[in-house]
Amino acid sequence: MPSRIVKTRAIVLRTRRLGETSKLVTLYTEDEGKIKATAKGARKPKSKFGGALELMTEAQVVCYLREERELQILSDCDALRAFPDLLKDLERLSLGSAACELIDRLTAERDPNRRLYRCLSGVLAGLEEVEGRQVEPLFWYFQLRAAEALGYRPELQHCTSCRARLEGEWLWFSPALGGGLCARCEAATGGIRVAGDSLRLLAGLQALSAYQQEAMPPAPARRGEIRSMLRGFLEYHGGQHRCDGSRG
Ligand SMILES: [Zn+2]
Repeated sequence: MPSRIVKTRAIVLRTRRLGETSKLVTLYTEDEGKIKATAKGARKPKSKFGGALELMTEAQVVCYLREERELQILSDCDALRAFPDLLKDLERLSLGSAACELIDRLTAERDPNRRLYRCLSGVLAGLEEVEGRQVEPLFWYFQLRAAEALGYRPELQHCTSCRARLEGEWLWFSPALGGGLCARCEAATGGIRVAGDSLRLLAGLQALSAYQQEAMPPAPARRGEIRSMLRGFLEYHGGQHRCDGSRG
């Protein structure tokens, strides 16, 4: 089968050295989904790829794609947007890389999803912009939006079992059932106990129609609980991976 030439926007999810002078890159492209490609000579000082193949950079790429081939060939690449402020702050940098890693883990190759592409591009831009105390809520917002773009939106406003509105100081959360549970249904279905406020904060983020700095809440006291709800949910629905901002 002949290869075809594709020109598309892409975000660099991962890069690795290949031989003496080349790079192996994983890209999330707008039109083709995730692809792995070799960039020949990318590590030479005067490479045509310039600095466009660094982690989290958004670029316009030209690729030779062949369906049956696992590694595609990157022929050209122009950086559209780098995120220099992300590199200056450890928390922003680690959440930006966690966002790239999450997309890498939750997607199969060559399965385009433009909505997911916009989520990733949006969170990288947003992480440069938000105030310090909104950095983590923005990442939570991204996790919720990514889950939705992949077709498994968590239910955070009503009990997934009886549909009652989720009210009260303490509630329950079940990744397997797809969201929150009221105290009455918990006994029959199981779940983890969480503060009602944690669930309501996530419901508020989920209800935002778009990322707006003014609408982002500051991170609350019970961050660990929120992280584990989101991680548990994405691990359950997206496979057995670590899906939070931590490594290892
Ligand atoms: Zn219920």
